[in-house]
Amino acid sequence: MSTFRSRALAQTFSRKLRPVTETQHRSEYFGSHVFNEETMKQYLTTEAFKGVMNAVSHGSNIDRKIADQVANSMKNWALEKGATHYTHWFQPLTGGTAEKHDAFFELGKDGKALERFGGNELVQQEPDASSFPSGGIRNTFEARGYTAWDPTSPAFIYGTTLCVPTIFVAYTGEALDHKTPLLRALHAVDKQATGVARYFDKNVSKVNASLGWEQEYFLIDKALVMSRPDMVLTGRTLLGQTSAKGQQLDDHYFGSIPQRVINFMIELETECIKLGIPVKTRHNEVAPNQFEIAAIHEEANLAVDHNALLMDIMGKVASKHELKVLLHEKPFKGINGSGKHNNWSLNTDSGVNLLSPGKTPMRNLQFLTFFINTIKAIYTYEELMRAEVASASNDHRLGSNEAPPAIVSVFIGEQLTTVLKELENVTDGKLSPQEKTDLKLNVVGKIPEILLDNTDRNRTSPFAFTGNKFEFRAVGSMASCANSMTVLNTIVAKQLKRFREEVDKLIDNRSFKKDEAIFNVLREYIKDSKDILFEGNSYGEDWEKEAMKRGLSNHKTTPEAIRAKISDKAMNLYKEMEVMNETEIFARHEIEYAAYSLRIQLEGRVLGDIAMNHVIPTAVNYQNTLIRNVKGLKEVFGKEFESVAKEQMDLIKKISEHISGITQKTNAMVEERKKANIVKEEGIKASLYCNKVKPYFEQIRNHCDKLELMIDDELWPLVKYREMLFTR
Ligand code: ADP
Ligand code: MG
Repeated sequence: MSTFRSRALAQTFSRKLRPVTETQHRSEYFGSHVFNEETMKQYLTTEAFKGVMNAVSHGSNIDRKIADQVANSMKNWALEKGATHYTHWFQPLTGGTAEKHDAFFELGKDGKALERFGGNELVQQEPDASSFPSGGIRNTFEARGYTAWDPTSPAFIYGTTLCVPTIFVAYTGEALDHKTPLLRALHAVDKQATGVARYFDKNVSKVNASLGWEQEYFLIDKALVMSRPDMVLTGRTLLGQTSAKGQQLDDHYFGSIPQRVINFMIELETECIKLGIPVKTRHNEVAPNQFEIAAIHEEANLAVDHNALLMDIMGKVASKHELKVLLHEKPFKGINGSGKHNNWSLNTDSGVNLLSPGKTPMRNLQFLTFFINTIKAIYTYEELMRAEVASASNDHRLGSNEAPPAIVSVFIGEQLTTVLKELENVTDGKLSPQEKTDLKLNVVGKIPEILLDNTDRNRTSPFAFTGNKFEFRAVGSMASCANSMTVLNTIVAKQLKRFREEVDKLIDNRSFKKDEAIFNVLREYIKDSKDILFEGNSYGEDWEKEAMKRGLSNHKTTPEAIRAKISDKAMNLYKEMEVMNETEIFARHEIEYAAYSLRIQLEGRVLGDIAMNHVIPTAVNYQNTLIRNVKGLKEVFGKEFESVAKEQMDLIKKISEHISGITQKTNAMVEERKKANIVKEEGIKASLYCNKVKPYFEQIRNHCDKLELMIDDELWPLVKYREMLFTR
């Protein structure tokens, strides 16, 4: 067998389990490596503690004196925990997280060594960040970037480093990261949702968005992954004949978890718990070797950080178990890809989930208000929602015959559909006392407190209401939750703002009672946004046609989808809600186009390399064996050899056809790449990569996969699908 593949398999088969045990209850060490409220109380002066808590709740500034105190206490705590270094931890636009470690260690003026960490170091740093993408922001303004402490996400110790969560901005103020717009969006939704919630309860003074993510991933033996150049360089298989057994037997989903994986999961969860990531759920997913980890929902900014941190920890822990985590949305053809469901709700500081039905008609009217406004927001901005989850890797799910589709729709289940139908008939104008009573008793009053109707759950809609939260399922497994949370909270903020204006107008100008005004506005919203509601699978294959009739967008590729981000509609939205300005929007857009092109370019190069340098030589090798065999048969059988050697000769010919197919297609792909590469405009370049380069991938792959079926298994150089998916 090819040495690389056989060595990888041999290593895989000889793995010893890494023993892992949990010795402590999780509640006992939850957050032990986090400089959280409890720890701060212990380490900070009352003055410093108050300063930080004020900054967390009200966004107030922390003065230098307090920053010094906080930094010094943080350092003392971190040193006690064995930390040696500190870093500003941030999320640049490349995706992933960035860190640059500095030791606490310093030399004093007298040359004496000491451990130091001051307010200056805590509050602001200037990483040499010239190679992070900025979409031209820094060039345009000749400004440098700096990271600034985000006290709303607590510092933590990871390994031996104290990590301080920060935002990353240019000196001119523009965001160079994913977190800054997110924080602005959360501020916007807080402001607008608080305004609306106060129609129902005057005591509300803050609304927090909550996020609970569910992270899907594949787990494959390290040696198998490392033996394949495509997986090492692109995170997915660019070729490979699908395994005879895939997921069709459904025998993996929720099945018993293999021991090696359980050990990985326990160790991963232990790390998470130390870092205050409230992981709760683990299970097998649908595809073989696919799994899920989910956390209890938290304030959205914190949850976004926690998911970013999780993705990092996963890789490190997996390595200890000689495993590789694949976060790519579609590592394998023919079986399910991975997503990251974003469960979202809005919660008041008085402890009410605004998306949860309640016990009283008033609570339910409040619920309906937020519920219907969310639907309206999605209807208005469905194209932008799609755009914000677009990426080259996520294109393999959205719009590639895999749930959810590229069409954004909202699924709310039968019960709530009925409620909306009733509300649609509310009288236009003032309501009679009888109608009000009727609404209270028979419509609003009839919404059950707990709506978790499992039989009614639809798994294919990208945005579904699941009892007391909406679940955005189109987010890619590799993506940060920041973008999806930014867009969702921004559009809901905008929608709630408009709602309040309309309701107030009816109250002020037409002397409507508050609930009358609310019913009237909601009625119109229901009518307006009906087209976004997805009623389940009744359309089957025809959903695309139906969606088109309804005017819903259906952008199947990233270059097409992300155009919506620079539409006037999107620009106005982000500007009005003070989430992003024009420069920031354009910069991000450029970066995403460039990232798309670079990814397709990389995949094209790697595929070309494997096809030409691994597959063709193997094919020629096997063909030579066949040729020797045919020659031998001719010697033995003389004239009759043709009937005896027929199959072999056919194979020889077929192999030649595929070799020539690979060569031609690869050369043609290279030509298209060259054409795309000389284009300066990033949008056009991305479209060329998408429409001219990428289509060759499938064609080249097909030839290679056919050869995999023909060629002696002993000779095949790449680890096969069945080996990756069914080796544990
Ligand atoms: P599923 O059937 O989709 O797995 P679960 O009920 O297990 O649904 O919840 C999945 C995720 O939803 C978890 O991360 C959970 O914390 C989160 N979640 C539950 N309630 C809320 C809420 N009110 N707001 C936001 N997220 C929530
Ligand atoms: Mg879910």
